[in-house]
Amino acid sequence: MGKIKENLNKINNIKEEITQKSGRGKDDVLLVAVTKTRTAEEINEAIDAGVTDIGENKVQEIMDKYDFVKPVKWHMIGHLQTNKVKYIIDKVSLIHSVDSLKLAQEIDHRAKQKNLTIDILVQVNSAQEESKFGITTEETGELINNILDTCENIRVRGLMSIAPFEENPEDVRVYFNQVKQLFDKYSKLNHERCDFKYLSMGMSHDFEVAIMEGSNLIRVGTAIFGQRNYIK
Ligand SMILES: *Cc1c(COP(=O)(O)O)cnc(C)c1O
Repeated sequence: MGKIKENLNKINNIKEEITQKSGRGKDDVLLVAVTKTRTAEEINEAIDAGVTDIGENKVQEIMDKYDFVKPVKWHMIGHLQTNKVKYIIDKVSLIHSVDSLKLAQEIDHRAKQKNLTIDILVQVNSAQEESKFGITTEETGELINNILDTCENIRVRGLMSIAPFEENPEDVRVYFNQVKQLFDKYSKLNHERCDFKYLSMGMSHDFEVAIMEGSNLIRVGTAIFGQRNYIK
């Protein structure tokens, strides 16, 4: 068995075990394999091994690989500049990283041109780290409401968050919990274009804690593909 398949099996087993421990059915958490810096060949190997969803954090990488990767759902998980929305609008099934009304309105504008409805998540930076994108917990309600008021071709499907890196992932439990509270709150919003389904939290280092705190979508790269090498 190849290394990618072996790692995937391991992650899936842990994911299922923790999901059940958190009181849910074993398949209730979606694994998005994060494929940034990986070749189309590596990605296709992961797809052959059962991956259904992949995440990229750069528009350019999506463009470069799109035609060479087998059919799969693409997720945009990284910071998205408004001038690049047009390149990926008809390629991605979920945009995780909406953190301003300006970006949402550009997505809406491009979606209208193509007669699409785009699913998005609002990115919350609950630890308020300077180095990370995302809005504060206090701003979340206002941004969601503004998107619903002005973006007819967007459906708000939930929240995404990236926890700070801590040696001990237990230390970020509190940040995941804050985002889960918001998720539960805005899940109750009664609006036809607000249909909360995804709470996107947890990466290689902290996905077990994230699932225990209620995440139902984890974004895992290193634990599947190995360490990234940015110098090519
Ligand atoms: C790179 C990345 C991940 C995956 O990180 P790993 O530590 O490799 O699992 C998850 N989410 C986002 C937004 C990323 O940029």
